[in-house]
Order: sequence, then C-alpha cells, then structure tokens
Amino acid sequence: MSSAPAGDVFAELVGQEHAVEQLRAAAADAPAARAGQHSQAMTHAWLITGPPGSGRSTAALAFAAALVCPQGGCGYCAECESVRHSTHPDVEHIVPESVTYSVDETRDLIHRASLAPSRSPWHVFVLEDADRLNPESANALLKSIEEPTPGTVWILCAPSTEDVLPTIRSRCRHLMLATPSTSDVISALVTTLNVDPAMAAFAARAAQGHIGRARALATDESARLRRQDVLRIPMQLKDLGSCLVLASELVDTVTADVASICDPLDARELASLRAAYGEGAEGRGLGTVERRAKGVVKALEDRQKKRRRRVVRDQLDRAIVDLVALYRDVLVVQLGAQSTLVNDEMRPQIERLAAQSSPEDTLRRVDALERTRHLLEANVSPLLAFESLTVSLKDPSLA
Ligand SMILES: [Zn+2]
Repeated sequence: MSSAPAGDVFAELVGQEHAVEQLRAAAADAPAARAGQHSQAMTHAWLITGPPGSGRSTAALAFAAALVCPQGGCGYCAECESVRHSTHPDVEHIVPESVTYSVDETRDLIHRASLAPSRSPWHVFVLEDADRLNPESANALLKSIEEPTPGTVWILCAPSTEDVLPTIRSRCRHLMLATPSTSDVISALVTTLNVDPAMAAFAARAAQGHIGRARALATDESARLRRQDVLRIPMQLKDLGSCLVLASELVDTVTADVASICDPLDARELASLRAAYGEGAEGRGLGTVERRAKGVVKALEDRQKKRRRRVVRDQLDRAIVDLVALYRDVLVVQLGAQSTLVNDEMRPQIERLAAQSSPEDTLRRVDALERTRHLLEANVSPLLAFESLTVSLKDPSLA
C-alpha cells in the first residue's frame, strides 16, 4: 500500500511504492522544470509498463493530475476532480479506436500536442496501448515526443517495453509497475474499502493481481455471480447446442456487465459537464449555454463510446483469464502438483474435470483460450470467437 494520505491522487495505486516515489518526485520538481531549470526527476516523455490490472492508466492519470493540480495532486481540488471525470482541458486520455493507432488519429494528436496548455502549466497526453502504434504512426509521433512544445508531457502506457517500438522506447523514461502481491491487495481491500478479511482473501486470490478486478469481486455480488457463471461453462458443455447457447449467454452477460459499469459513469460525467456549463444559467440564457456546451458534450460522448468498446474488450478478456486459471487448476490436479488452486472453492468440480480428461487435453483447452484472445484482439465478433471457443473446449482434439 502507498503511504499516501487518503484522497491523494496516488492513493489508489496498490503495491507500487517505487513507481509512486518517482512520480511524486517528478511532480514536485515539475514547476522548476516548467520554469526552464534543469530537473533530474521531471521529464516530458514517460513510458509506464506493467501487467494488466497493475494500474498503468491509474498511475498515468494520477501523475497527470499531480502535474495540473496546484498542490501536486491533492485529490480533491477542481483540477484533480476534472482529471478524474475526464473533463480536464489540459489532460487528454487517448485510447486507440481500433487495433492500431491510425496515421490520421496520430496526426490529429500531434497537432493537439503542439498547442499550449489552456489553464494549467502542463498539457498532458496519456496514451493507452502504446503497443498499438504501428511503425508509421510511431514515426509521426517521434519528433513530438523528442522535442515537445514547452509544457507538453507524454505518458505512454503498454504491457511491457518489448511491446513498444525501440525508437519510441528510447525516447521515454521507463517506469515499471509490479504485479501487486496477494497480501498487498488484501490489505488494500481491508483498509481502504473496509472489506471483510475472508472476502478480501478470496477476491485477491481470484483476481490474480488485478486490483480493479479484486475491488469488484470484493464489493459487488453481481460481479461474483457473473464470474461463477463463466467458471461453470466447462462443466456444462454437453453437445453442440449447449456450446452455442453458453457462448451467446456469455456474450450477453458481458454486454449487460458493461452497461452496468458504463451507464452510471456516463451519466455522472454528463451531469457534471452540464453543471459546469449550465451554472447560473436560467431562462433565456440557457439557450446560449446549451449551444456552447453542445460541442463539449459531443466530445465527451465520443470518449465514452470508445471507453465502452474498451470495457467490452476488457471484460471478454477477463472471462478468458478466469477460464485459463480454471484449466491451470485442472492441470495442477492432473499432475498431482502441490500448489494452491486459484479457484480453491471449486475443488470438487475441478477434480471431476481433471478425472474426465488428460493433461494434453487441458493444454489444448488453454491453447484454445489463447487463440480466442488473439481473435478478439483482431476484432473478430465476440459471439463468433466464443462459439468457436466453447466448441474447442468441449472437444479439444478437434481444434
Ligand atoms: Zn488537486
């Protein structure tokens, strides 16, 4: 756990003391660097890497808030608030629209990065999935990253340095996040969310180092039920018909899941944006404000649409991660290994699956899950990808 006071922008990062220390130092040095003084700690291009769920974008956005907040990231002022609601004009959170960043998208980005910040000392660009920059887009970005407009800061996020083109990598300061340990996750759940220790232990184990997932499992019963539904799939694959039904149910569940995550978030953001624009406007004044707000609302809605697509992808990926963990557990039992099961509460079902098949089949099933992940990355329709998955899980030798 970070030793930060509750509410500080870095407080949400779990088990990342080393990274937080560097980001705090950079934020503390930022005003001097902005004034043109030499700074060791602050630089204008960062690459944050770490496994899924370690908090890459949380770290990047916390740092962005620390740079635009007059108190270095207090967590409660208007600047920190608007970064949290993705409405800060000087903090851009960029998520690629498709499998790669298009050259048009990148050019547009470079243009915006050439503009001075509007109300903060810094204009911060948080670029998600920097591994999705193809050589063309990366080349277009290079100059902007190497010699940015004064005040522009790039924070690139990617799973690992190997995923990022060397030309980009070499121009950024690298910050690596760790997979938070199970005990870090448990203590974060217990101290910050007041979760019962037994529930925290279950959630931390089931989430396998993914902090956002651990929070959801610990606090949201429907998240736990949906996880159970996914983990029951392997026990219900009887024939082709059941494979197809289970695949379609899974995709429906994920869609409902995403709506339950995104709908309230979207509504809250829209309300706070409207409040910002509609403040004090009554009667005839309202029309003018409405017109002015229209463009900003449109931009917010575009961001929300992208976020929704991303959440769908993340949730489908989550289902795959859970199923891979289940088959790893099956393999542990089949090989008689003495390690703890991720899904210990399902030991009887896991033992039954282990008895019904061979380790070779289990490995083929894990391969089928990895293939599904690649299909989803290539934007294949989720229903098709999961239909093919359930059929392969039922009969792995056909794959
Ligand atoms: Zn603040």
